[in-house]
Amino acid sequence: MTPDAFDQLLAEVANKLAEELTDAGLLLNNIVIRSSSEVVETLQGRAYAAVHTRAPSLPDVVTVYQAVVEVDAAREGKEIRDYLERLLRHELAHHFSYSHEAMYRIQANRKEMSQ
Ligand SMILES: [Zn+2]
Repeated sequence: MTPDAFDQLLAEVANKLAEELTDAGLLLNNIVIRSSSEVVETLQGRAYAAVHTRAPSLPDVVTVYQAVVEVDAAREGKEIRDYLERLLRHELAHHFSYSHEAMYRIQANRKEMSQ
């Protein structure tokens, strides 16, 4: 996928989620979502996205790494769009201060309720 096509897809997914959040009464006014063609190594391995919280007055920046997303989506047999949607939901949850533990708890409750 070309970087332009990836950026376009990322923008579509981000706009869709922003609409959902606005409908739910949540404002997304302090976050920037951007893509990068760099691959970044982190302590935990390859990063597919990173949230950088800088200062309270500055927006959170979510950087999405195209190359890693493409490899991981292919490995999971997922469409890039679906992968990006799950990824952005996760990063937006961090933006709203959810920890991984809280996210897993919510997911587990949801599974329990749907059984
Ligand atoms: Zn996370």
